[in-house]
Amino acid sequence: MKAAVFRSAGEALAIEDRPVPEPGPGQVLVAVHSCGICGSDLAMTASGSPATFAPGCVPGHEYSGKVVALGQGVTSLRIGDAVSAFPVAGCGTCEACRAGDPYGCSACAYLMGGFGEFAIAAADLCAPLPAGVSLDDAALVEPLACGAQAVRLGAVGPASRVLVMGLGPIGLAAIWWAARAGCRQIVAAAPSPRRSELAGTMGASAFIPMDDAFLQALADAFGGQAPDVVFEGAGKPGAIATALGCVGNRGTVVSSGMCFEHDSFVPGFAVMKQVRLQFSMGYLAQDFRDCVAALEAGHVEPRAMVTRSISLDRLPQTLEALREPGADCKVLVRPVG
Ligand SMILES: [Zn+2]
Ligand SMILES: [Zn+2]
Repeated sequence: MKAAVFRSAGEALAIEDRPVPEPGPGQVLVAVHSCGICGSDLAMTASGSPATFAPGCVPGHEYSGKVVALGQGVTSLRIGDAVSAFPVAGCGTCEACRAGDPYGCSACAYLMGGFGEFAIAAADLCAPLPAGVSLDDAALVEPLACGAQAVRLGAVGPASRVLVMGLGPIGLAAIWWAARAGCRQIVAAAPSPRRSELAGTMGASAFIPMDDAFLQALADAFGGQAPDVVFEGAGKPGAIATALGCVGNRGTVVSSGMCFEHDSFVPGFAVMKQVRLQFSMGYLAQDFRDCVAALEAGHVEPRAMVTRSISLDRLPQTLEALREPGADCKVLVRPVG
């Protein structure tokens, strides 16, 4: 099969011919339909990055497809089932795994593989697709689930005043899930206004630019009150300090930004406000199922995040081009064309 392989940081992915992987016990083989390119794929392949993929691996963790082979003991899926594939797996037996939380397992491993024609996934964690959810929509479930977890950890409710800083797909997913939670005061903020309209489509009630007038605009947006929950998805040095500075007394800052540089903030101001600082990565198996259910119920606004689909051959050059900010939001790779 054809697959895009990571060789070393700073080197473009290489299209190679690889053997089709064999599903182990409890696993399924998925023929990949669509796989999103994630900001973490850029970060984990960047020159000089302190966190990279293992050389030789096939990245791609936001994918959908059809089950084409079953490993030993699989009863939860059948050949031909369409799924949103869960890209990590745990040991399957510990307390976290039994609760559908493989990210909480000490043996949590990244299966990925969505940048190839076929990939392996843990059968019990994949979300089967009902007839009303397309394979293209299902490729958005993974980034949407990241937003679901962030919003769950932020304990957002209908009365929350929410600020989302950084409008990458995770920030946009947090807006969408805050809207699903019934929240009506969702302010989106980013240095550039290029995704302001998209933020509105996802459910934001207002957009403010992160410029010199940011704090005044923020106060105006919430009628003089501070936000209760701030989502930080920018992943840039200084972003957590800004979030801690904006959030109100006893508020919560949820950070999902992948910043691999040293960063600093003054803890005393956060202590005085008794802020809860929560980092978030991943999701529960239930978050995947909730995303699929929301799409099935007709909440298909996330489709607006997809700016184009490309073939696997074009992935290496496209991934390199995405390092520069541009018009793209979510790009989907179609390994089989
Ligand atoms: Zn991702
Ligand atoms: Zn486990």
